[in-house]
Amino acid sequence: MPNCRKVITICCYLVIGIFLFGSQSTSYAAGATFKDVPSDHFAYDEINYLSGLGIIEGYSVNGGKEFRPGNTVTRAQAAKMLVSALGKKEVNPTKASFSDVPKGHWAYGWIESARSLGLINGTDGAYKPEDRLTRAQMSKIIAIAFNLDTKTATGKTQAFNDVSKDQWAFEYIQALYYNGVSNGNNNQFNPNSDINRGQFSAFLSRGLNDKFKVEVVEKEVPVQGVIANGKVTVSSLNMRASASASSTVVAKLTKGNIVSVHSISGYWAKVTYNKQTGYVHKSYLKMKSVNTGPLSNRIIVIDAGHGGKDPGAVNGKYNEKTTTLAVAKKVQAYLEKDGAKVIMTRQSDTYPTLSDRVVIAQDNYAELFVSIHVNSGPSTAKGTETYYYSGGENAEESKELAGDIQKQIVAMAKMVDRGVKDNSFYVIKNHTIPSVLVELGFITNSDDLSKLTSSQYQDIYAEAIYKGIKEYYSN
Ligand SMILES: [Zn+2]
Repeated sequence: MPNCRKVITICCYLVIGIFLFGSQSTSYAAGATFKDVPSDHFAYDEINYLSGLGIIEGYSVNGGKEFRPGNTVTRAQAAKMLVSALGKKEVNPTKASFSDVPKGHWAYGWIESARSLGLINGTDGAYKPEDRLTRAQMSKIIAIAFNLDTKTATGKTQAFNDVSKDQWAFEYIQALYYNGVSNGNNNQFNPNSDINRGQFSAFLSRGLNDKFKVEVVEKEVPVQGVIANGKVTVSSLNMRASASASSTVVAKLTKGNIVSVHSISGYWAKVTYNKQTGYVHKSYLKMKSVNTGPLSNRIIVIDAGHGGKDPGAVNGKYNEKTTTLAVAKKVQAYLEKDGAKVIMTRQSDTYPTLSDRVVIAQDNYAELFVSIHVNSGPSTAKGTETYYYSGGENAEESKELAGDIQKQIVAMAKMVDRGVKDNSFYVIKNHTIPSVLVELGFITNSDDLSKLTSSQYQDIYAEAIYKGIKEYYSN
């Protein structure tokens, strides 16, 4: 019966295609469908293929269509695309399976269908439909949806440097690699990164149709003695013959190059790039440990603003230094649980000078600096803002880190979003490493004050800062 089944499947595609778009999209060979997916886009063929099958749709803009391939995929969108790709339909049970996807949610039928097909199961009765899908989560649903052989793949050599046996999605990510669905990037899979619409389309097409599959190369045993991968964060970085700034330059690295890190001593990292080995200043490498979580072994300074004789901002019996220390200690605990080496500029009610705080970071060969503060102003001013310094050598990294932290605090502590801002505060100006200064909220505003002084909210702020740092290292 295989032919018969194929015909039925094709019919399903046509029905879905017509249902979603009318009858205009029946062929993917018709040329460019989306203005923002040029013919040299890495997933051009795949996106047009899925569009032709009616599995994906774009956004109508000024008479044309956009696909927005760089946008992240939400869990609700993923459910719909997958169910469509499998030629299945929405289902409409009377009782909702997930507490956060009630009847009437736009993706109710798709999510229920994905659940009944065994593709998704949620956590604690919730599906979190608006959360972004990580590449690890995606690997699981793709592997299940397309029945990939996870057992054989699990027994083979580890396919990606950053996905070892202790990663929860190891079997699925291995299966994606050994079935030609993903070949990652520079031996990395980036399991905690979000997946975008372009990448998801590529994976779906490869699951559906062998002609899109990528070549599978049997992996050799990974190079011994690599402790981390490091991404160059500046436009030009000298690789030197020995660990000294006056030593011969053996290669020039450029922004985005990914090097293998063999060892680190002080500020010098011994690295290999394109079979050439040498030493680079680690302040210009964004390093991710191999085979462990993104934060493990990273040297991070947490700076509780003010302290001792300097209370910082004050409102009645409340002061800034108490809140910053409480939050800083909680951030420390979160980071250390993930294996980071956390350096605190103060552990109690003491007063390190601004210069002390910078020197502490340098003396410990720190890789990231996060200063925690509380704002003050007119009683109507409220919300969170995060600062970076645009004149620093790692300004772009600092800005990215500031954005990641700001976003988490605003969402988790439900703060007004005052945005990411540029300022030359001493403790962020005088570093070469990525550095940010967070103003959690206003001690002078009653809404903010009640959060800043609540131990429950101090924990939320801390978890948000930790998550922001983790997100920074995941990308
Ligand atoms: Zn302050």
